[in-house]
Amino acid sequence: MAPRPGNDPSLLEGYLSALRFLKGLGIETLPIPKEAPMPTSQVTVPSAPEEPSAPKTGRDPARLLAELEASLADCARCKLAKGRAKLVFGEGSPRADLMFVGEGPGRDEDLQGRPFVGRAGQLLTRIINAMKMKRDNVYIANIVKCRPPGNRNPEPDEVTACMPFLMRQIEIIRPRVICALGSVAFQALMETKAPISKFRGTLYPWREGIYLMPTYHPAYLLRNPAKKRDVWEDVQVIMKFLEDAA
Ligand code: SF4
Repeated sequence: MAPRPGNDPSLLEGYLSALRFLKGLGIETLPIPKEAPMPTSQVTVPSAPEEPSAPKTGRDPARLLAELEASLADCARCKLAKGRAKLVFGEGSPRADLMFVGEGPGRDEDLQGRPFVGRAGQLLTRIINAMKMKRDNVYIANIVKCRPPGNRNPEPDEVTACMPFLMRQIEIIRPRVICALGSVAFQALMETKAPISKFRGTLYPWREGIYLMPTYHPAYLLRNPAKKRDVWEDVQVIMKFLEDAA
């Protein structure tokens, strides 16, 4: 669950970083009061489900994730195994309400074995901070856990081979919202070939009481900074949904 302002003094630096990020987008006002209308008529926010899909208590998701990660250590179920330096399992809170899913590790992630640690990852961290959270409050993973050569998109057989592990992570964590970062994640999770640009901005019921928000990948934002405003609108929808669900 997202921490609330005032409960964690260590969030202050994160908020300041977030404000700098937003100011860079030309956004001067924050945050959206609970009763305020959404910033654009295009976005829609479904009512939060009255109950999460299943109680999060009485389980040990950290242990379940650790067991899953250990079971993948030598995974060679697809051809990406050959080129990896490190498998990038994912990281964050095992009880996160919000999960970010990208397409696959890049060079920095492959070397460090951690998701979203390169330039795009730093931008994702700023986006998370702008949402009044820290990376520790969310969970970050990818569609494939090993780096595609030359940062190409994962191929269909690789996605098929690796998806069961992401699905198991989602089953263990039971987030309220999955934010799909970029077309590969959106199309794999929604089992569609539709362009993300037509679907971003709206939370879609996904499965098991979990909602999915498609938005642009941070690497795309680095190439197209003007799209940052779209992403900010998308994450505001998520923030309002999580606030209502709390
Ligand atoms: S990408 Fe996934 S399925 Fe392929 S080798 Fe890596 S962990 Fe295994």
